[in-house]
Amino acid sequence: MRVLGIESSCDETGVAVYDTAFGGAAGLRAHEVYSQIDLHAAYGGVVPELASRDHVRKLLPLVRETLREAGLSTTELDGVAYTAGPGLVGALMVGAGFARALAFALEIPAVAVHHMEGHLLAPLMEDDPPEPPFVALLVSGGHTQLVHVARIGDYRLLGETLDDAAGEAFDKTAKLMGLPYPGGPQLAKLAGIGRPGLFKFSRPMVDRPGLDFSFSGLKTQVLLAWRGSDQSDQTRADIALAFEEAVVDTLRIKCERALDAAGCDTLVVAGGVGANRKLREQLQTMAAKRGGRVCFPRPELCTDNGAMIAFAGALRLQAGESVDAQVKVRPRWDMAELPTLDTVTGS
Ligand code: ATP
Ligand code: MG
Ligand code: FE
Repeated sequence: MRVLGIESSCDETGVAVYDTAFGGAAGLRAHEVYSQIDLHAAYGGVVPELASRDHVRKLLPLVRETLREAGLSTTELDGVAYTAGPGLVGALMVGAGFARALAFALEIPAVAVHHMEGHLLAPLMEDDPPEPPFVALLVSGGHTQLVHVARIGDYRLLGETLDDAAGEAFDKTAKLMGLPYPGGPQLAKLAGIGRPGLFKFSRPMVDRPGLDFSFSGLKTQVLLAWRGSDQSDQTRADIALAFEEAVVDTLRIKCERALDAAGCDTLVVAGGVGANRKLREQLQTMAAKRGGRVCFPRPELCTDNGAMIAFAGALRLQAGESVDAQVKVRPRWDMAELPTLDTVTGS
């Protein structure tokens, strides 16, 4: 089954084709991402109306380019998957309207994909995919969640952030030290030249039971440290390293706790912060120590992309799921409401 995937929940337009006949990483026949970062940089954050308009501008050329790259024409597609939520309502409407109309014209099914399920399933698109049950750590710009995955579509929230998401903490911390938007990846890069041991920030909420997170206090700690410093480039890097260590340590401690609580040894990590090199290393070490396994998507598939939507959509279409001809989006959407895959097939 060849599925076109369309992602437009925020400030990335993503388009991809996934072909289940190949499976694994080979199933991804083509994927293209256009990031609107430059458009929003001047405002220091995403401007929803500008985001919607830019998706309108970029979607069709990107679909053409992706199909060309895959060597396919629209008539060779078997389904269209699109992000229906959560996300910015206008941005979602652009992708959903486009995807629904294309599927209607081609007389093929369309399927509405939950953006976070897309992230969560992205590691399964790689070769030698993990099989449920496992624990998933979703660490992105808008979410930090630990989820128990009993089966695909059967998601139980174990813990989540009470305030900022991990990616948001990276971005805000970068901003307060004067890095341009979106600063998360740049802050992580700076941490690479930071000198260890000069600054120390707390590991929030690790000293009490439970699997929730809180990252907003770290930002304040960084602000105070930055204000009281010489504010040199080297100091910025030193603080970046201490901040990154605090976030990564906290995530590792809670992941290990979640694996223990769930009686699992497989951890799946997805979302933009999953691209962080130090997080990948520390989780690998933690998993190896307990004789378990940690699975990530390749870094480019950690941040928003159409591939994860094509893949998640293909799994749901194969299970018999599809949507009617109405264009519906869900700016807020709880992943726990999703049907389990074998519920969809009725088996
Ligand atoms: P959500 O998926 O929750 O709706 P989003 O789609 O905006 O949010 P993603 O695209 O998954 O989030 O990830 C973007 C986030 O990942 C940003 O906050 C960015 O700073 C962060 N990020 C990307 N690369 C890195 C990195 N190497 N280290 C730390 N953070 C990173
Ligand atoms: Mg983004
Ligand atoms: Fe995302």
